[in-house]
This record gives sequence, C-alpha cells and structure tokens, in this order.
Amino acid sequence: MVVANQKGGVGKTTTTVNIAAALAQLGQRVLVIDLDPQGNASTALSVEHRRGVPSTYDGLVEGKPLADIARPCPDLPGLFVVPATIDLAGAEIELVSVVAREGRLRKAIHGHPLVVTDAARAAEVEDRFDYVLIDCPPSLGLLTLNALVAGDEMMIPIQAEYYALEGLGQLLETVDMVRAHLNPDLAVSTILLTMYDARTRLAAGVADEVRGHFGDQVLRTNIPRSVRVSEAPSYGQTVMTYDPGSPGALSYFEAAREIATKGAR
Ligand code: ADP
Ligand code: MG
Repeated sequence: MVVANQKGGVGKTTTTVNIAAALAQLGQRVLVIDLDPQGNASTALSVEHRRGVPSTYDGLVEGKPLADIARPCPDLPGLFVVPATIDLAGAEIELVSVVAREGRLRKAIHGHPLVVTDAARAAEVEDRFDYVLIDCPPSLGLLTLNALVAGDEMMIPIQAEYYALEGLGQLLETVDMVRAHLNPDLAVSTILLTMYDARTRLAAGVADEVRGHFGDQVLRTNIPRSVRVSEAPSYGQTVMTYDPGSPGALSYFEAAREIATKGAR
C-alpha cells in the first residue's frame, strides 16, 4: 500500500508507521519501505538510517532486492523496515538516465519490472509479508512515481483543515496517468482523515466534504490531533507502543482493523 500525498505535513509518515505497527500487533507480517530521504519513518521505527547502512537507495539505484535489505523493528515483532538514508535525495536525479526508471522500486520489491517473470523472487516478498507500506516523500517526483508503479493500493492521508483538498486533483490525475500507462492495478483504496479536531466545525466540514467526494474509500475512523502521537517519534517509537491507551493509538488501531477487514494490501 502506497501512502502518498504531495503535500508535506499531512500525516503520511505518522500514518505509515502507526498503521504498520497496529497491523503487526494484529499479528500481520508487515514491511515498511521508507521512500523519503528525510528518513522520518526509519527514525520513528528505531531503525538505523545513517549513511552506509543498506537502504531503499540500494534497491532503487543499485537494484538490490529489498527483501534482503529489510531490518526488524526492535519493538514490534513482525514489523520490518527498509530504511531511507540521505543518499536517497540524489536518487531522483541519478535515476533520470536509467532505463525503465519508474519501475525500479517495483523490481526491487518483486524482483521483476512490470510483469511477473521470476515467480520465485516474487513469491519471496509475497510469502514473507502480508502488508507492504511505502512512505512517500512530499512531492510527485520520480520517487513517488516509483511507489505508484510498485503498489496495487494507495492510501491518501488528508489533514482535516481548510486547504485539505487543494492539490488532491493533481495527485489523482497522476494516479490516472500511472493506471493508464504503467500500473493498471493501482487503486485509491483508502482515505484517512488525520489531525482531526472534533471540537471545530471546520474539521467536521472538511470531513463531510471528503466523505461526499470519496464515499466508502474514506475510513470510518478519523485520527484525532493528539500530542502523544507527535511525541512518540522523539522516543524512537510509534504511539502504539509509546502510549497504547491514548486516543491517537486507539484510533490508529481501529483504522488498521478497518484496513485488515477490507483485505487491503
Ligand atoms: P508527512 O509525512 O505527511 O510530512 P508527518 O506524519 O511527518 O507528515 O506529520 C507532520 C507533523 O504533524 C509531525 O510533526 C507529526 O508529529 C504531526 N502529527 C501527525 N499526526 C498527528 C496527530 N494525529 N496529532 C498530532 N500531531 C500529529
Ligand atoms: Mg513524511
């Protein structure tokens, strides 16, 4: 599942790590691929991402299988991470001259570019993990494009605030383009409202508008704005382990349960 929205600060990384942690707590085997050079998801999951450790860059640029790079998350059994190092910042430019540059991540995940040619390799990732979550950077560049080509499903976190829907048209146009030319399987399966402040009429208005537009794609659970959610990464944790009884953790757990029930990948 590709977690994307070209806007920064809408809760992509927070959603990726907490949904991944919650799915692991539900007994699923989960892989998080950190595709943002800032490596925030790697930090939150306490996986080393200093320059030199095997990372997403090695998969994208060097063609190494990501299944071999994945590291276990120390706090959460069943959760593995492919960390992002700062090298990834250069990948966008390095890949420009590479053949089939938009299919590199798919190849590193599945062992094949756009079609299954090597069933043994494909089976390896698919056998090892029930869910693969890709945390995208805040842009619609070549990194995000690689994620959209690699994944079957997409989750868009939307911050419940005034400009929430701005830029979403451009994101959906990109999804249509990818579906038409590069990855016909891609579907926007899941929309999640984040940083929801139930006390404001504005948040309720945004939620109504998003639900009116996207219907059942929107999860019933909204993620409330909660300071515990934003504190957790500074302890190298998700809120699921940092404060499991807090409203943020309970909401992410509910959202993960909805995703698991829908059978998303
Ligand atoms: P993105 O990955 O889309 O740039 P982040 O997940 O990094 O967004 O979130 C942006 C900021 O908002 C971070 O500082 C994060 O801790 C904070 N944040 C995200 N979700 C919540 C929430 N539910 N409550 C409070 N703060 C949040
Ligand atoms: Mg992020």
